[in-house]
Amino acid sequence: MDSRQVSPSTGNSAPVGNARKELGQALFGRAEDVASTVLRRWEKMKGADFAAHEDVNRDIARTTHLATITVAQFLTTGSFPTAEQAKELAATGKAPLRNTVSLKELTRLYLYWRDATIAIVLEETGRLGSDRATIDEALFVVHAGFDGSIMRMAKEFDAERQRLQDQVVEEQTRLTHQALHDALTGLPNRTLILDRLSHALDRSSRQLSRTAVLFVDLDHFKVINDVAGHSTGDAVLVGVAARLREAVRSGDTVGRLGGDEFVVLCEDLTGGEHEAEGLAQRIAVLLAEPFCLEDREVFVSASIGVAFAKGADDAADLLAQADRAMYFAKDRGRARYEVYCTDIDEGLERRAELLNSLHPACERGELHLHYQPVRMLHDNQVTTMEALLRWDHATLGNIPPAEFIPLAEETGLIRDIGRWVITQACNDCAEWRRRDASDVGVSINISGHQLGDVELVDFVRSALEEAELPGEVVTLELTESVLFSDAPYVRETLAELHALGVRLAIDDFGTGYSSLSYLSKYPIDIVKIDRSFVAGLDQTGRNSTIVFATIELAHALGLTVVAEGVETEGELAELRNASCDAAQGFLLGRPAHLTTSTQHRA
Ligand code: C2E
Ligand code: CA
Ligand code: CA
Repeated sequence: MDSRQVSPSTGNSAPVGNARKELGQALFGRAEDVASTVLRRWEKMKGADFAAHEDVNRDIARTTHLATITVAQFLTTGSFPTAEQAKELAATGKAPLRNTVSLKELTRLYLYWRDATIAIVLEETGRLGSDRATIDEALFVVHAGFDGSIMRMAKEFDAERQRLQDQVVEEQTRLTHQALHDALTGLPNRTLILDRLSHALDRSSRQLSRTAVLFVDLDHFKVINDVAGHSTGDAVLVGVAARLREAVRSGDTVGRLGGDEFVVLCEDLTGGEHEAEGLAQRIAVLLAEPFCLEDREVFVSASIGVAFAKGADDAADLLAQADRAMYFAKDRGRARYEVYCTDIDEGLERRAELLNSLHPACERGELHLHYQPVRMLHDNQVTTMEALLRWDHATLGNIPPAEFIPLAEETGLIRDIGRWVITQACNDCAEWRRRDASDVGVSINISGHQLGDVELVDFVRSALEEAELPGEVVTLELTESVLFSDAPYVRETLAELHALGVRLAIDDFGTGYSSLSYLSKYPIDIVKIDRSFVAGLDQTGRNSTIVFATIELAHALGLTVVAEGVETEGELAELRNASCDAAQGFLLGRPAHLTTSTQHRA
């Protein structure tokens, strides 16, 4: 109950007649009675609950008491209660009661107070013999106090309700955002992407060739997580999100599907396929810049699949097509983009079939080795035979290793296949040496995945022992990317292998990072120059500078140089000219199945 509502006019004291003063004073004396009447009715309403809330009851008594005094004072003096009373009223009437009793109960308490006060006013006016005007005035003041309080309370509750409503809306907005966005990057998630995509499809049903989805998947992201840790991985993902946003046009949507999978939704590609490819290239360029994170630089690339709405049934279908195109891009060597077409599905079907039959292939003996000679250039003698894996698929025919080895790596089968190659190659080599009394060696291709096998060194050691071969007879060929990863286990494994006497070669040199700097970091013995540098060496001279420089530098580091893929006499002459040590290629001997001891000397 607040004095401001009790006063019919604010600020001024109205002149007060004697009869009214008398009534006011009488009411002062009855304030306790009002309070106890209210409390009794409250007790009746609450029943057994009443006794449990002593503090609430005390507040009710005090508030009703004060409210009555306020009315009494107004009747007596025509003015507000003293500042102190007003303060106490405000304090007691508000906080404690509002917090502990419900709106319904509070309204009831006001009604109890009104009724009790009116009853007492009537009793007192009867006793005093007050005139009609005084009675009316007194009742008016009580009613005004009641109405004012109820109104104020309603207003306060209204404000409170509004505040709560705003809070609910805010919370709902937050939850909706959370449900539709990725927590790490703040980008739209799969649900929102699919939603936007289907809206885009609805809108553009007549111009489906203008709506495209780019499925962006980082290459080898797992390595970043494994080697540099998850917080670095997260930082890279956040950085990639920012660069993708930078790459796209303002109307395009960038989203994250999870893990290292991002998606770009483009509408209104007036330039069609051309424009989508331009965007894929822009993304590749932006991602190529290293991410500088605290103490390290991280390099990433992405494989991108592009699909246009015209060939898809719905949003999920379109996204799946872009996904398959991305998958195909991975298959074709990563760090590239592919535009979806039905051929891709056929390619992926073949892949799936190969994947399915790879495991049984190992058991059914469909894998075998061909050998290709490596010849010294000064005397044309075969020093080494390189083992090249072959798969004779029961229905699909010959599957080239470039096609099935990535699958074996993906499934982990490379570990067993690789071991089989090591055993077989060592045994074959031992047999040639025995039968021919020759000192020919064998060269074995080792996949980067095999270096992660903690038992690799032991396995090679026992393969050598069982075949009774000295370590230096065997060369293991590794690709540049393996060395470039710079993982500590690579260094250790290579050192242990080298300690067995085994020689180590870098395969396909020049196709990867083309840096000789790491040659000094690892115990490398041989560099095999990739055949793309050998091709046309005699004709254009295009590659000759690279080949000459590589040979010179390798020699300076004490390495033996083998040129791969020599097909013409001209190439061979150029290599001799460049002081290359050895060569391999169709000109010097094709890979072949070796059944007898004489064949490998051919
Ligand atoms: P690579 O180690 O660079 O093997 C040389 C590839 O070049 C072989 O292809 C060989 O047949 C081919 N080649 C040799 N001379 C010439 C030539 O004069 N001209 C042309 N155009 N090509 C020539 P292949 O057998 O298809 O092997 C492809 C790749 O598969 C190999 O490349 C190697 O990286 C991988 N690979 C083969 N066997 C194994 C294996 O047992 N384990 C692992 N991890 N990888 C293997
Ligand atoms: Ca090789
Ligand atoms: Ca090679």
